[in-house]
Amino acid sequence: MKLIYSFSGKEKELLRKYRDKYDSIMIPANIGIHFRVPTSELISKSGKPFFVDPMTDRLVIPLSAISKKDSKSKEERLKLSFQKLIKEYGCTKILEENKPLDIKDFSDDNFKRRFLRRIIRFQANLGNDISASQISLREYDTILGRKSQHSYGREPFWYIPPYFYFESLTDPWYQLTVEFAKLAKRIYPSLRLCPILSMSKDALDRKIAIGILEDLREFDTYIIFVNDFDERKESLSTIKSLAYFIKLLTEGGKQVYLKHSGGFFALLLYYFGLEGIIIGVDVGEHKNIFTPTTGGGGGSLYIPKLHIRISRAEAKLLYQDNPELRCKCNVCNEKWKDANGDPLKFVDSFDDFSVKAHFVEIRTKEKELIENGDINSTLMMLKNEKEIAEFRNIALYSKRLRSLDYFDKWIKLLEDLISL
Ligand SMILES: [Zn+2]
Repeated sequence: MKLIYSFSGKEKELLRKYRDKYDSIMIPANIGIHFRVPTSELISKSGKPFFVDPMTDRLVIPLSAISKKDSKSKEERLKLSFQKLIKEYGCTKILEENKPLDIKDFSDDNFKRRFLRRIIRFQANLGNDISASQISLREYDTILGRKSQHSYGREPFWYIPPYFYFESLTDPWYQLTVEFAKLAKRIYPSLRLCPILSMSKDALDRKIAIGILEDLREFDTYIIFVNDFDERKESLSTIKSLAYFIKLLTEGGKQVYLKHSGGFFALLLYYFGLEGIIIGVDVGEHKNIFTPTTGGGGGSLYIPKLHIRISRAEAKLLYQDNPELRCKCNVCNEKWKDANGDPLKFVDSFDDFSVKAHFVEIRTKEKELIENGDINSTLMMLKNEKEIAEFRNIALYSKRLRSLDYFDKWIKLLEDLISL
């Protein structure tokens, strides 16, 4: 299974240092344009393959999702990173009228083509410090569909056509997503294009999977994003819907990647054919595109045996009473040694960098565990972990641990697959 980390502008050193712990990097376009220097340094110095998420779904939903309060005037303002992106994409109408793009804007064929071209060009150029003349040479090559004679520096391994959030197959934003994917394929036949499907939980059904396979049959890879999917709080039926949705697509011959937040659950979908996960480094476990992001994990610590992040204060108490729950990744082993096995000193010794380093280390271990073990051994592991958690009364240590339902749902999901 492939592990792809989403860059937030802050993990340049981390992703460089741990370059052998993951497969590739996703750069959200607004991050790429706002943190231009760290982004190009990350791309050139990590040497890892990358692609750019054009973030176009954010341009057609209420702007509050990409705004934040100005610290001085207290007024809601579009985030600077998105202001830059909107200019780059040539849709300054958003800024002038202070409202998102409307489906009607896309009825103009010229606007549509220009929008697509700018978005593809942005992705092509992000990894390079190449001059404008080279850009047009490259475009010329691409338009002619010929393999380039020129060396352009680093290029993304996928290009993502514009995409939008949808709730059904009849949703005009779904139809526009399909239209853009096909148009991109026609205009840029030599590029490796991978559509993103940014969708509602309610759209996770069989009919829609079959519709997508039909509509996007000329593509061999899809990225799925399910809005506001919370791996611990969703009902068993929603969790199953996602797993079987992915299974259907992969059985239809597609390589499917899941753009998830930071949770463990996505790894379990390996057994349903998932090709890879795209996650943030130590961010919350779910994401809603309609609400603004507030930043990272706030220094909480990922507890691998519970598959959850809790605050460092909570982690101290948890580890004090239950040292056997401690993580044994390289970062943690070293820190444990330095702290002479004192759980308080141990937790105190984490800074932002090591919190994330621990996350990257342990996520790789978890991935390998799932790949190398079979579904039965993973099932046993989850059952064991839940038993220990109950026996140890871990609900006492954090509000987030009050319900261990999520273990039951994940266990039932795997049992369901085994029983097929
Ligand atoms: Zn660790």
